[in-house]
Amino acid sequence: METKICTKCGIEKDVSCFGKAKNQCRDCANAQGKAYYAANKDKQKAQAKAYYAANRDKRNAQKKAYNAANKDKISAWQKAYNAANKDKRKAYNEKNLITRCMTEHGITEQAAIEKIRINRMFKSQGENNETRKQLMTMGIF
Ligand SMILES: [Zn+2]
Repeated sequence: METKICTKCGIEKDVSCFGKAKNQCRDCANAQGKAYYAANKDKQKAQAKAYYAANRDKRNAQKKAYNAANKDKISAWQKAYNAANKDKRKAYNEKNLITRCMTEHGITEQAAIEKIRINRMFKSQGENNETRKQLMTMGIF
């Protein structure tokens, strides 16, 4: 077994415990890296933020160029995504409709669902449905 002595902790360890061409064992190197990060956390965060801000325009331009160059591909992706999530989107839209109806009319969820259902039924029978007109004059719709 080939061993090496760590220059940091002084413990003799198997060479597999050392990185390539490193004189410190991995444990020490990791601890040092962590300590460095902890000590410079704010600095590193600020740097990352500054870098992000400085390259925002460039990134946006890149994104735009990419989107333009891959319009067909992206549109195909979106189509595939929408197809795969059709039911999900439908359910989401339905939920939104119910919520809107509840807020708009100040009614319960159950009443909103019923209202939407009846509205749709009338719609499918045509806007000039007599029953609907009657209900509207009665103030139900
Ligand atoms: Zn060590």
